[in-house]
Amino acid sequence: MSDNNRLRIAIQKSGRLSKDCQDLLKQLGVKLNLREQRLIAHATNMPIDVLRVRDDDIPGLVMDGVCDLGIVGENVLVESQAERQAQKLNANVTKLAKLDFGYCRLALAWPQELGQQPLSWFEGKKIATTYPEILKQFLKAQGINASTVLLSGSVEVAPRAGLADAICDLVSTGATLEANGLLQGETILESNACLIQNPAMDNPQKQALLDTLLPRLKAVRQAKE
Ligand code: ATP
Ligand code: ZN
Repeated sequence: MSDNNRLRIAIQKSGRLSKDCQDLLKQLGVKLNLREQRLIAHATNMPIDVLRVRDDDIPGLVMDGVCDLGIVGENVLVESQAERQAQKLNANVTKLAKLDFGYCRLALAWPQELGQQPLSWFEGKKIATTYPEILKQFLKAQGINASTVLLSGSVEVAPRAGLADAICDLVSTGATLEANGLLQGETILESNACLIQNPAMDNPQKQALLDTLLPRLKAVRQAKE
């Protein structure tokens, strides 16, 4: 059985946030023995366990109290909060810090040959995305009736494949959109990685450890400025 006094932190196992998360933990003084295939890595110098999972699972693990802390993109956090609210599940987390990595934006894009288009062009269109809840909220706020097509990968090929008229996808440099003949439009969400906490964590030992980590996090961030 796991030791209930160990602080559990969920991070992405392999992907765009993994290296920055590992570096951050190192800068906070957490010594980890990261063996490739292990789900859980135990810190050797403090009572911390690091769970390495898919980024999509991180908000739920923290909301359900399986993990005390998590590092995840705001895009994934906002989408899963909306999804869980729609399912009447607990979606509470405390955002402890916005981190200085994982920057990207969720933006609309459509085939380049159509040229610039106003938002009203989306009326009645079909939009492929991995973030249907964020997109639906945006469309509702803009008073646009469009349908969403959920794709968990390769969203950028959807228009060419005839699956959708347009897309709503994560962009950092815009190179992928350009390579797929898409024109970037409105940004609907700007996102960074963030540190989240389960607000119901009530273990004094874990809290004491967290109280030593947060000032270190602040110091690390200030040192970079
Ligand atoms: P997983 O296997 O963990 O589900 P994934 O394929 O969903 O991984 P990644 O592509 O590794 O996720 O991206 C993880 C996070 O990195 C994104 O959710 C986002 O917050 C951030 N990110 C930063 N830049 C980009 C980008 N250009 N494209 C996609 N995500 C980006
Ligand atoms: Zn993912």
